[in-house]
Amino acid sequence: MRDTELYRHLLGLVAPWEVSQVELSVEDGRVDVWVEHPKRTRFLCPDCDVELAVYDHSEERAWRHLDSCAFLTFLHASAPRVACPEHGVRQARVPWAEPHSRFTTLFERLAIDVLGACDVAAAAGLLRLSWDEAWHLMDRAVARGLAAKTLAVPAHVGVDEKAAGRGQDYITLVCDLDAGTVEFIADERRQASLDGYFEQFTADQLAGIQAVAMDMWEPFANSVRAYLTDAEDKIVFDRYHLMGYLTKAVDTVRKQENRTLAAAGDKSLAGSKYLWLYSHENLPARHQDRFNALRAADLKTGRAWAIKEDLRHFWSYKRRGWGAKHFNRWYFWATHSRLNPIIDAAKTLKRHEAGLLSYFAHPITNAGAEGLNSRIQAIRVSARGYRNREHFKTSIYFHLGGLQLYPATP
Ligand SMILES: [Zn+2]
Repeated sequence: MRDTELYRHLLGLVAPWEVSQVELSVEDGRVDVWVEHPKRTRFLCPDCDVELAVYDHSEERAWRHLDSCAFLTFLHASAPRVACPEHGVRQARVPWAEPHSRFTTLFERLAIDVLGACDVAAAAGLLRLSWDEAWHLMDRAVARGLAAKTLAVPAHVGVDEKAAGRGQDYITLVCDLDAGTVEFIADERRQASLDGYFEQFTADQLAGIQAVAMDMWEPFANSVRAYLTDAEDKIVFDRYHLMGYLTKAVDTVRKQENRTLAAAGDKSLAGSKYLWLYSHENLPARHQDRFNALRAADLKTGRAWAIKEDLRHFWSYKRRGWGAKHFNRWYFWATHSRLNPIIDAAKTLKRHEAGLLSYFAHPITNAGAEGLNSRIQAIRVSARGYRNREHFKTSIYFHLGGLQLYPATP
C-alpha cells in the first residue's frame, strides 16, 4: 500500500478528498499530509447546500490531527470556495474539521477527553499543545455546548457565589440541583448577576421553577422576587450557608474567650480553633479526648458550640410545624445565651425565618449539590495558575455544565 493510500485510510477521508503527498520528518518528529480533490469537483454552499463549481481556493492551511505513532501529524489543504448566487463567495465545508478550527474533528474529540480527565497544564503536556491552544480548545468546546443547549428551567435552582480571585472578586453560579449541573455563570454577585439568568426565559417557563436555594443575600432574593411569582414561598435559605454563620459565631466566641483566658495565663483554648469547626460526628478520633475535656470545662465556647450543633436538628424534621417549634426553642436558648456573636447570628436567622421554614415545602440545599461544590473547589485549586476569571468560568462550564462538548464526527 502506498503511503498516500495508507493515510487516506488513517484520516478516514472519503471522496472527493484524497491524499496527494505524505512527508515524514524524523528529525522534527512529524508527519505532514496534503489532501486534494480532483479537478471539476463540485462543492456545496455552506449556507444553502446548493451544489456549485469551484470558484477558487483559500490559501493552504494546516490542521493538527491525531498523532501517527508519536509523530505530530498535520493535515494540509487549500479549501475550495464557491460563488453562491445568493450568499456570495463562501468557503466550502471540509469534512475533517469544523469551520475556523485549527484541529481536525478527531483531534478535538481526543483533546476534550484528555482535558476532561486532567488539568489544563497536564493536558497541554500530554497533547503537546501550548497553554493557549489548550484553552482555545476548551473555549470552543464550551461555546459549542452552550450553543447546542436547549433553554429550560430546572425545577430546583441553586444560586451560589464563589470567590473568583483575590479580594472581593465574585462570580454567581446558577445550578440545577436535580441534575447537579452548573447552568449559568455571571460576574459579581449583584441582583443584575442573577437577573441575567432569569431574563432568558418567558414567564411561562419561569413558572416551572419550584424553589431556589440560596444564601441570605438580599440582591439574590430581590432578583427572585422580581422574576418569580410567590417568591417568598420559593426562596429556601440554604442550610450550609446558615450553619456557616453559626460556625463563624462560635469561632468569634472562641477568639474572645481565648484572649481573656490567655491574659490570665490559661492556655486551655489555645490551638483549639479547628476542633470547634467540625460538626460533632466529623471530629477526627485523635482530637476526641481533648475535645471532650474542653467541653466538660464549662467554657463559653463550649456553650456556643452546643447551640450551633442543636440548630442542625432543625433540618431533620419532616413537618413544618415541628421545625418551627424547634426553631423557636432554639432561638430562645440562643438569645438567652449571653454570647453576643450567637445572639446576633440568631437574630439574623429570625429575620429570615420564612426562608428557613420554606425548607419543609422544598427540602433542597445547595449542598445537595455537595459534589458540585467540592468539584468547583477542585477546579479553583487547579486554577491557581489561571490567568483570569474567564478561564475559571470556562472550566466550570467545561467540567460541570453537563454540555455536549464534542464536535460532530464526519
Ligand atoms: Zn448559498
